[in-house]
Amino acid sequence: MSAMTSKRVAIIGAGPSGTSCLRAFKAAQEKGADIPEIVCFEKQADWGGLWNYNWRTGLDENGNAVHGSMYRHLWSNGPKECLEFADYTFEEHFGFPIPSFPPREVLQDYITGRVNKSGIKHWVRCNTVVVTTVYDDATGMFTLTSKDNKTKEETVEVFDNVICCTGHFSTPNVPSFPGMESFCGRIMHAHDFRAAEEFKDKDILIIGTSYSAEDIASQCYKYGVKSVTCSYRTAPMGFHWPDNFKTVPLLTKIESNSKTCHFKDGTTADVDAIILCTGYQHYFPFLEPNLQLKTANRLHCDSLHEGVAFIDNPKMMYIGMQDQWFTFNMFDAQAWYARDLILGRLTVPDRAGMEADWKKQREAEEAVEATDEANIRYQADYTERLQNYTDYPTFDIEGVVQAFLVWEHNKHENIMTFRDQAHKSLMTGTMAPVHHTPWLKAFDDSIESYVAGNKK
Ligand SMILES: Cc1cc2nc3c(=O)[nH]c(=O)nc-3n(C[C@H](O)[C@H](O)[C@H](O)COP(=O)(O)OP(=O)(O)OC[C@H]3O[C@@H](n4cnc5c(N)ncnc54)[C@H](O)[C@@H]3O)c2cc1C
Repeated sequence: MSAMTSKRVAIIGAGPSGTSCLRAFKAAQEKGADIPEIVCFEKQADWGGLWNYNWRTGLDENGNAVHGSMYRHLWSNGPKECLEFADYTFEEHFGFPIPSFPPREVLQDYITGRVNKSGIKHWVRCNTVVVTTVYDDATGMFTLTSKDNKTKEETVEVFDNVICCTGHFSTPNVPSFPGMESFCGRIMHAHDFRAAEEFKDKDILIIGTSYSAEDIASQCYKYGVKSVTCSYRTAPMGFHWPDNFKTVPLLTKIESNSKTCHFKDGTTADVDAIILCTGYQHYFPFLEPNLQLKTANRLHCDSLHEGVAFIDNPKMMYIGMQDQWFTFNMFDAQAWYARDLILGRLTVPDRAGMEADWKKQREAEEAVEATDEANIRYQADYTERLQNYTDYPTFDIEGVVQAFLVWEHNKHENIMTFRDQAHKSLMTGTMAPVHHTPWLKAFDDSIESYVAGNKK
């Protein structure tokens, strides 16, 4: 047994970030490298993370907090060409080109297709939730306790490294406003939004300006909402919304025992439901406090060297914790980097070096202009830097930036039709076909309709 094969690595979570890690180790093994024993813990019944749709809200069937925040009719909110894996294209997966903004199920099929092909599902323990993780300074090892959802049995194991891939869009950030307790309607956070049909012919109030706000508002429009009032704290979303939308500043109070909401500009609106699109928290209760990442949702997270290795203990790593423009291929670049640290192909500087590096990057992040383009470019440069450290296949990152900019332009032209546009793959050079039905009229979001329906 080599020094590497006697090592053990725990990956917590088998969503896109966790499966990127699995793929990274497998890719090294396929090239002849000795790799450690990999155990990936996944609390849901299957891999896929948020893309593995769960209709439940609150607690799941095992009494764990429901991880999912995705809704039934979700379609990709960015072009698939911006998230395409460099080592596994959509065309390779589906056998022919598909349009640019696939529904949730199609993306889930793509993410899991890559790892299915590698034959590594036995590395994943589904239905197994990590409950505690403790680091022992004396042995330099992590002791991780996991629980089998079905038998409720706990297992205690020791690992050399832990990679936390549990995402940060599951624990809602829920503000409160005066009068909420007697509001005569429904109040929910975006985390619990599952289907827009519920809001047909209703007046709704959306609080927030995030991706969730713009997409849940659009979903509700598609499914026949009567009116949407969008309330913002600092600046409005800035799209050309349909006529039954209005934009107001922040909610100040709700009249007692009523549906009447008051806003900072003195206007009011009567609404049937309030949907809080007020963001999420980074929350890791299954790690001992001194291993927990504490950061805001930003491009350069606190406490992480190169956005991956926990500065207080670089044997502990995190994938996908940044505010996200880039997603799947950035998670890959991070996973390949984490893998190479574990394989000893790369090293982190000493603590002072990591801190100096972190500070330099924080200064660069803080100097980024407050425009989408500047933010996208910052994350593109970060992804490219990581990619250059490893053998992750290079791809045209500037091309991805350009695709993001065209997408942004299209959204500002018409927020309800940007999904009807086609983008070119930066991996294969193929132009996507235009989907057979405009998004606003496309109510069948099954994989059959989307994929087979676009086959020439
Ligand atoms: C509503 C919504 C829409 C989005 N739409 C898009 C989009 O269109 N395009 C895009 O690129 N990105 C989108 N995203 C961003 C999303 O963050 C990424 O696509 C991706 O899912 C992140 O992957 P992840 O693996 O980091 O986290 P997740 O997908 O959240 O996966 C984390 C996994 O960890 C598991 N887990 C958590 N705790 C434990 C534990 N204690 N023990 C064991 N397992 C655990 C979970 O069950 C889950 O499977 C969207 C996010 C949301 C919330």
